[in-house]
Amino acid sequence: MDRPLPNRVVRVPAGRPGAACVYPASALCDTERAPPALTGAGRVWFNGAALFLSTGGPVHVARRPMIAGNWKMNKGTAREASELAGAVAGLAADFTADVDVVVCPPYPALHATAEALQGSAVALGAQDCYWKSAGAYTGQVSPEMLVDSGVTYVVLGHSERRGRFGVPEPDFTEGVLKHFGETDHTVNLKATAAIAAGLKPIICVGETLAEREADQTDGIVAAQVEGALDGISAGSMASVVFAYEPVWAIGTGRTCSPDEADRVCGVIRKAIEDQYNDDIAGSVRILYGGSMKPDNAADLLVQPHIDGGLIGGASLKPADFAGIFGAAAAAQAAGAQAGAAVE
Ligand code: PEP
Repeated sequence: MDRPLPNRVVRVPAGRPGAACVYPASALCDTERAPPALTGAGRVWFNGAALFLSTGGPVHVARRPMIAGNWKMNKGTAREASELAGAVAGLAADFTADVDVVVCPPYPALHATAEALQGSAVALGAQDCYWKSAGAYTGQVSPEMLVDSGVTYVVLGHSERRGRFGVPEPDFTEGVLKHFGETDHTVNLKATAAIAAGLKPIICVGETLAEREADQTDGIVAAQVEGALDGISAGSMASVVFAYEPVWAIGTGRTCSPDEADRVCGVIRKAIEDQYNDDIAGSVRILYGGSMKPDNAADLLVQPHIDGGLIGGASLKPADFAGIFGAAAAAQAAGAQAGAAVE
């Protein structure tokens, strides 16, 4: 039987699964469309967060996990993309109630991928966008064009676009990297334009090996977060996702330890809190990226600040990608149990 909206919302704050904060229900219900399912017991998803409803008891909100596959410059023909997207859609069907699954093919394969995903809850992402809507910008693609192609998410500031390659190749000379180089300012322009067009940016931040060895990780990452968010309103933060991607762990087979990845994701959350407030910091999803695979995903995804993964190499193999979103669903279920204990 339906019950009235609870008059209190108990939120389990990031990183402190045992400590509950109490907010008036109106703070939640006034924001956007209150979900019709906000009655009765069970769990519903609302605005990227899970509401765990218990009969007559309080409600706590957890962040909904996201697993996004960045195909990079792979699987870019229509045939390859439809095959991979079709396989992912089939494997994801049992998990998309609990996990946001996203695939980001190269631009030319967006339409074929969108078609292959039709009827599935797997979302389409792009790997970059420009910050202008139209004009004489040869080779660029605007956020509006992506929306028209069925895109929901866009990866911005990936280290391979910032020119901060972990494993430089012989033809990546300093001059090439300089011109390839995304900066915090261009990431900010792109994020602002993407949000205005209705896209959800996945903003990548992370330190190089040299920066880590010089003990600069926290400062670099916090500055990247601050730079990316410059001028972005609190109201727009519901559509922003961050990805912590230590450059030295991308495509190298080296993974950041779960504790350290969680610690740096906490640094990102603190930088968001400093710029906005505790509530917004607690609701933004932060993914980890860097050689995440089925066999290390579970340990990373149970960390309190890690809300999912941005996956490169393993997203090209449907079974490996499925192993990761399966691990995210299991981590989510474990989190729900921890939440139930608080109630
Ligand atoms: C990435 O490119 O964002 C990434 C995390 O790659 P990989 O998983 O291959 O390390």
